[in-house]
Amino acid sequence: MTERLYYDDPYLTRFEARVVRATPDGVVLDRTAFYPDGGGQPHDTGTLNGVAVVGVREEGDDIVHVVAQPVEGEVSGVVDWERRRDHMQQHHGQHLLSEAFVRVCGAETESFHLGSETSTIELGAAKVAPVDVERAETLANMVVFENRAVESGFFTPEEAKGRPLRKPPPAGGRIRIVHVADFDCSACCGTHPRRTGDVGFVMVVGVEGSRVHFVCGLRGLKYARGNAASVRGAMAKLSCAREDIVASVGRTQEELVAARKRLAAAERALAGYQAKELAAAAPSTGKVRLVERLFEEKDGKFLQVLANGIIEQPGMVAVLGGTGGASSVALARSKDVAIDLRPVLQEALAAIGGKGGGAPHFCQGGGEGKDVGGALRIAREKILANLGA
Ligand SMILES: [Zn+2]
Repeated sequence: MTERLYYDDPYLTRFEARVVRATPDGVVLDRTAFYPDGGGQPHDTGTLNGVAVVGVREEGDDIVHVVAQPVEGEVSGVVDWERRRDHMQQHHGQHLLSEAFVRVCGAETESFHLGSETSTIELGAAKVAPVDVERAETLANMVVFENRAVESGFFTPEEAKGRPLRKPPPAGGRIRIVHVADFDCSACCGTHPRRTGDVGFVMVVGVEGSRVHFVCGLRGLKYARGNAASVRGAMAKLSCAREDIVASVGRTQEELVAARKRLAAAERALAGYQAKELAAAAPSTGKVRLVERLFEEKDGKFLQVLANGIIEQPGMVAVLGGTGGASSVALARSKDVAIDLRPVLQEALAAIGGKGGGAPHFCQGGGEGKDVGGALRIAREKILANLGA
């Protein structure tokens, strides 16, 4: 049975111990300051005699330290304090936030996850009102600012009955209880600071239904710093004050929608004129007059409108390509021209690794390849050969 030094002193980062047995991937010590995975809190990392401890897990009453290389005999252990402090801040912040939600709106915490970026609690309520989220966040921070004492210790189930536990304790032997003066009292085996002030700051960063995302301590500072940088960036791009960002983005979005509509209408009109011009100037190849044209910065929609305009007149074939974003190809013919364009399109699209389809008289497609000119050439040659022109 490994003696767990972190229960008595969660701030202990250096300790001496002895290897009592080896496991396939690590060692069990007689005593340790390394916290194993459990209770929603991830394991510590650090070193044993300078060898990296990459995992820590419980095996019955023992704690297995997963090590990068074998270690034996007497060992000096060092726990990565940055990581432990971060976990203590998130975990204890969760206790405070959970109790705050109970006090503010009666919402119990059903589960807790300490993530690598943010942590979450799942509340036993369908959803929580924004005003309650704010009140709970404020209350949790008030308890942090008051720097209240945090006590922890083991109790028999009988002794535990007299304690104001937030949830009923698990059945069994001794129960470890973590108690914040006049606030949260929970059965918990995690590592907790001695005073609430060590949590630093509790910040709710998002709510989805009953799931509350939050960050505490140094993570809160980093998160707030990231938010401030985003806000400064948005203010510079929008040339506006902080409080006007949302309204300014809204206006910009509305303007963009309106501009896109106007652009689409203008392109349709332009395509109509270009169709007439191209049809009039198209050289005759005997049986048909063929328009072959590659457009830069035009997409499949434009090609479709243009092709439709060209084939309004009899005896026309349109072989059109565009390079706006993805490469696109459109093939079309007038009703009186007898050729199925679909197989031609497939051969042309092979040149740009594309896909597409349509009707015998009108089909189009697109791909990632850049040689749209090559695709159009293939299409023109196939069509003229097919028509015997
Ligand atoms: Zn806990």
